[in-house]
Amino acid sequence: MTNFDTRRASEPVSVEMSSVAVRFGELLALKSVDLTVRPGELFTLLGPSGCGKTTLLRSIAGFNCLAEGHIRFNGRNVDQLQPWNRNIGFVFQNYALWPTKTIFENVAYGLRMRKVPRDEIVRRVAGVLDLVELGEVASQYPGQLSGGMQQRAALARAVVIDPPLLLLDEPLSNLDAKLRVTLRRGIREMLVRLGLTAIYVTHDQEEALDISDRIAVMNRGRVAQVGTPREIYDQPDSSFVADFVGKANFIEGRVVGKSFVTRTGTRLDVPLRLACEASNVRCAFIRPEDIEIRSDARSQLRGTVEGTSYFGSFFQHRIALEGGQKLFVQTRTHLDLGRVTGMQIPHLTGYPELPPSQD
Ligand code: ATP
Repeated sequence: MTNFDTRRASEPVSVEMSSVAVRFGELLALKSVDLTVRPGELFTLLGPSGCGKTTLLRSIAGFNCLAEGHIRFNGRNVDQLQPWNRNIGFVFQNYALWPTKTIFENVAYGLRMRKVPRDEIVRRVAGVLDLVELGEVASQYPGQLSGGMQQRAALARAVVIDPPLLLLDEPLSNLDAKLRVTLRRGIREMLVRLGLTAIYVTHDQEEALDISDRIAVMNRGRVAQVGTPREIYDQPDSSFVADFVGKANFIEGRVVGKSFVTRTGTRLDVPLRLACEASNVRCAFIRPEDIEIRSDARSQLRGTVEGTSYFGSFFQHRIALEGGQKLFVQTRTHLDLGRVTGMQIPHLTGYPELPPSQD
């Protein structure tokens, strides 16, 4: 993505949400959401279907009324401001391009509405189409372009007005897996160059980890955790976040002294991070790629390989422990079915409850 002039007229804003609640009839879709998005940040709302991501994004845009709470841009309350007065760029899942307008006309639309002079429109549209590498198809119609190109056109249309805030609602979900990966990198690079504040909604955890400065993981209308991708992945605050972001193992047991003792009585003397009082711990979490397969005496757990899936860059084995619990372990090498193996556990995080999917 090339020589677009990235000097911007408007400065990126901060977005502060305090005690935000949104109601649809009986349903409380958002429950007391507190979040601050910093100027220039690429901030992602991540969570399972129905957790309230889109509702929060639409509330920031002004399409939903708040039942409670406030939203501020750079400290200024925007609760009473109509969507068209919030100066926001919006990229939708379905592109929302006009089929009867050319790509140039689609991208120019927002500038025309703002009564920008014709020669400046031509210059700015050409610059932004260059940025998303669509300069050569400016005179074509959306129906003549691929899905990925249409989404880039939608992105160009959103940023050409030079918004201090860009909202993106699952912009890649209609594209195939490989294109999603290429395009999300392109979006990230473009947003970093433009330096605007962007709030991005996705339910795809890998996408969120790849593109975000920070992520808010949402669950049932609430924010479960806010952090950098590494904080969210490596130090989840709850079993819900550990389970939703990436693959997770949960071993039932309790903390005794400085050790974790499994349900079947195996004592694991490993560094323990606790998300609650030691006496309340009911399970411990470890990622599959952190477990080491070892057959020597230092192995802390033993189990039988029950199944293996091949993912190209790694194998994922399902290993049954004594007592029936299963662990997922990732390795670069194949393990034979039925093999009894030792496993070295380097560390554990203790939680008071199993995630809903395993309880
Ligand atoms: P998805 O990833 O499936 O789009 P989401 O996290 O974006 O999910 P929302 O679309 O924000 O979830 O929906 C949150 C809850 O609010 C859901 O239970 C949904 O059915 C409900 N909801 C959303 N919009 C409306 C509406 N206009 N009227 C009634 N209920 C709504």
